[in-house]
Amino acid sequence: MSEKKKLSLTTRILIAMVLGAIAGWILNLVGNPDWARIWLVEGLFRVVGQVFISLLQMLVVPLVFVSLVCGASALSDPKVLGRVGGKTIGLYMITTGIAVTLALFSALIVKPGEGVNAVQDAAPSIAEATPFTQVLIDMVPRNPVFAMAEGQMLPIIVFSVLLGIAITLSGARGERIGSWFQDMNAIVMRLVTLVMRFAPYGVFALIAVLAATSELADFLAVGKYVLLVFVVLFIHALVVYPALLALVGRLNPLIFLYKMRAAMMFAFSTASSNATLPVTLETVRKRLGVSNKIASFTVPLGATINMDGTAIMQGIATGFIAQYYGIELGAGQYLAVIMMVILASVGTAGVPSVGLVVLAGVLSQVGLPAEGIAMILGIDRLLDMTRTAVNITGDAAVTTIVARSEGELDLETFNDRDAGTDFEAEALET
Ligand code: ASP
Repeated sequence: MSEKKKLSLTTRILIAMVLGAIAGWILNLVGNPDWARIWLVEGLFRVVGQVFISLLQMLVVPLVFVSLVCGASALSDPKVLGRVGGKTIGLYMITTGIAVTLALFSALIVKPGEGVNAVQDAAPSIAEATPFTQVLIDMVPRNPVFAMAEGQMLPIIVFSVLLGIAITLSGARGERIGSWFQDMNAIVMRLVTLVMRFAPYGVFALIAVLAATSELADFLAVGKYVLLVFVVLFIHALVVYPALLALVGRLNPLIFLYKMRAAMMFAFSTASSNATLPVTLETVRKRLGVSNKIASFTVPLGATINMDGTAIMQGIATGFIAQYYGIELGAGQYLAVIMMVILASVGTAGVPSVGLVVLAGVLSQVGLPAEGIAMILGIDRLLDMTRTAVNITGDAAVTTIVARSEGELDLETFNDRDAGTDFEAEALET
């Protein structure tokens, strides 16, 4: 402990967010003069923000690979692996199902798309989502090095789990390599703590750019939609997850939410579950007390296949666009939307705006015009940031519940308010 009382990382990030919003807002108010636009918004802030995101992304592949090999070799019994996998994937799908159903219902009741006079831009050019069958085929990497170079999460997960199992089955040789991976894991986690020191600056820059470049008029045009997405996201994070944690996990949800603040702020600033992965993993292990065995497997999997916040946006956006064009959807189409949203999120990585790509696929499946997306494109960034915070909260909630059911949650750590706050000191302990 240092002599001076240091502000916690969470507090520093929070302060950085507020200062970033104020700085960006002031620039926005004075109309973004040329010097500010060139030197600050597109200059200094953009560089600092993007460097921060790159630093986080730099950690993802080594972290997932090394920690998953450690996790899988610790979970040596294939039966346990199958059971943990089944529970995790099942819970991820159930929570996404609840999210999209909640979203569709709320859109039916509130009708955000009625009476909207959005000026429509030209049709947006949105990439196509990968079909589910292809996702299944691509899950097994033909070339693990390529999968790593491309940052493809599912193939990396499959390869790491298989390698971990092979290590356990390889006797003395496996033990040697296994302990090498353990050391490497501690070193990569140390790297995470180093990068986190830079977080307040990165967060400041990212939020400042957003505040400087957002237009209030864009939000007002589709205000009801924006508000509804926010409300349902909050309900999901503050009611659905806590209820699951309390009822299924028999855990105090307030402690969970309290400890997730820093990770949520990371997710909010970066709008990417993948970039937030190092922080989610660190939080789940050190703050919440989940063993690496479980967390190393469920958290990277969740960052890829579990996107509840995204599902909420997609459900409400579908309702919104149908109402805007005056198209009535039948029960069968609603069901199709629910299935599509659950399955489509499996193959899409947690990166900014990917939710819109999936949405385009959902809309065309149920015969709605994909051009409708143009109306919500302009304001999507703020929603993307908020839903990413919900996405990673869902990953952590399911991870905690699965760990609890497997006896892999250290209750003392979970219940200790301050556990794991001193990231740096703990990283050195191992
Ligand atoms: N940005 C989100 C994530 O990374 C995905 C999305 O909704 O676009 O989790």
